[in-house]
Amino acid sequence: MTSSLKPIGLFGGSFDPVHLGHINLAESAVDLIGLEQVRFIPLNAPVHREASLTRLEDRLKMLHSVLRPPFFLDETEINRGGVSYTVDTLRSFRDEYPTRSLCLLLGKDSFDRLDSWRSYDELLSIANIVVAGRSNSYNGIPAHLKSTFESALSESVASLHSKKCGVLYFLEAPLTDVSSSEIRCNILKGESLIGLVPDEVAFFIEQNKLYRT
Ligand code: ATP
Repeated sequence: MTSSLKPIGLFGGSFDPVHLGHINLAESAVDLIGLEQVRFIPLNAPVHREASLTRLEDRLKMLHSVLRPPFFLDETEINRGGVSYTVDTLRSFRDEYPTRSLCLLLGKDSFDRLDSWRSYDELLSIANIVVAGRSNSYNGIPAHLKSTFESALSESVASLHSKKCGVLYFLEAPLTDVSSSEIRCNILKGESLIGLVPDEVAFFIEQNKLYRT
């Protein structure tokens, strides 16, 4: 049985730093889907990335400075320690919320690379997946993921409320064309962060001289 409560959005990332693309995605998901809340889940240790992350304490402080209800910081992956696998995170939320609709929020770039994620073909058996396109991206399932995901595709927001898992939904939302790597690069080049990160984050980066090397 699915809970009658609104779905919970789960949004994982390195958030190094959190930027307006992240915030706008979460806001669109709350507005267009009617999520009760979005949990921002900073990863503890990345799977795919060679580059080291900024100190956890600083990533958390930046998130703390901008997250207001219905957005919440969630330390599930940090508390678990080790490499952060989304499938493990979804399983722990499913244990906590056996009947609730859980919506994993993903940018389109992450979705397109999903076949490199551990147990990616199990994700829909645990949660729904909501994909948000970055600007100019094509909203669709790439050929290499069709056999796994096509049958789950739905154009109905209601299905994200009525089913606790198993639905793939593309969010029709204008999104901000920005990435954390672009921001880190801009800082190295001495370029402005206006329009890319919330003011609180720009201030924190400046005060703590982050991303200068
Ligand atoms: P990096 O540039 O270092 O790879 P990033 O900007 O992609 O970082 P992450 O914290 O790694 O940020 O991403 C977390 C999630 O947010 C991923 O699902 C990613 O696809 C999504 N995302 C990041 N930027 C945007 C954006 N501008 N619009 C929509 N989704 C985004």
